[in-house]
Amino acid sequence: MKFVNEYRDRAAAEEYASAIARITTRPWMIMEVCGGQTYAIVKFGIDELLPQCITLLHGPGCPVCVTPVELVDKATQIASRPDVIFCSFGDMLRVPGTERDLFAVKAAGGDVRTVYSPLDALKLARDNPARQVVFFAVGFETTAPANAMAVYQAKQAGVRNFSVLVSHVLVPPAIEALLSSPDNRVQGFLAAGHVCTVMGYEEYVPIAAKYRVPIVVTGFEPLDILQGVYMCVRQLEEGRAEVENQYTRSVRREGNRPAQQLVAQVFRVVPRKWRGVGEIPQSGLGLAPEYAAYDAELRFDLAAYTAEEDSECISGLVLRGVKKPHECSAFGTRCTPEHPLGATMVSNEGACAAYYHYRRRGRKHEDAAAAKEASHA
Ligand code: SF4
Repeated sequence: MKFVNEYRDRAAAEEYASAIARITTRPWMIMEVCGGQTYAIVKFGIDELLPQCITLLHGPGCPVCVTPVELVDKATQIASRPDVIFCSFGDMLRVPGTERDLFAVKAAGGDVRTVYSPLDALKLARDNPARQVVFFAVGFETTAPANAMAVYQAKQAGVRNFSVLVSHVLVPPAIEALLSSPDNRVQGFLAAGHVCTVMGYEEYVPIAAKYRVPIVVTGFEPLDILQGVYMCVRQLEEGRAEVENQYTRSVRREGNRPAQQLVAQVFRVVPRKWRGVGEIPQSGLGLAPEYAAYDAELRFDLAAYTAEEDSECISGLVLRGVKKPHECSAFGTRCTPEHPLGATMVSNEGACAAYYHYRRRGRKHEDAAAAKEASHA
């Protein structure tokens, strides 16, 4: 397949791995921010190709995984109303709320529909003027332009029975929160290429300088990730902390300005709770006052509702790179994709689900060391 196979070439991957090994003189911890990168790393065994002293930590870049439980509760409450058609991307339907998920609401008779675009939900609103149509607007900067467009078009066309339940999060404030944390282990980042396709990477420059951490904008195929790791390790070994762009076939420094302008018109930056992490200042998007009439939380009087996270799930530690999925006592036993306790076991891009699907625990050398230790105990 054009533009895929050439980025999955095994011989080239092994060459990159050898090049990384040649320049590595000491241990480094590098976090891939995006869940899509995590999935590729686990699926293709990219971490197994790297020198043992390089550890890849799996970051908070899966929007489904970081959507707080109270937003899921709000979604289930809205979707349970008989006057509502509730629309969502499919991967949000199985994310557990406090008592149930959207699938359970659908099974109980709620009108919950999977759509592929917020504009599909807007069309449903036009076609069903007697019903309220609500779209669950989840995602990073990547999906914000399409969601902004749906709200903008609804206002332009005077569609009054359409609203959005917004759970948008922003990557740079999350990176800063990780770096400021006392238990931070991350020494370098692979930033998410698709987010930077929209937002560019100028925002990362002051973060790299302030925290003395290299940030490499990286794609999602195996060779992209290996090249991103190479560029990151080279900076670390040379004592540099800069923003570099591996994903040049898609990302420009300034990003997509028209998309940014639309997002800035429809949304404003707000504090946002991240599942398992807590509130991060200025880390999300909410509707701008001019578009408040399209805010589902206000329309259904749910803005004040709050809920606590499940205490057994340690996904917050997984998303901050402090723990790996297999270090959770519930992994693969009480928590599986069929019966997930946390959102990182639900989404394909969640680190727990990726480890489960590809039967991963630690890296092979870590498992061997653990087995040896156990045999001596
Ligand atoms: S395995 Fe399940 S309970 Fe454990 S951190 Fe992952 S999602 Fe949470």
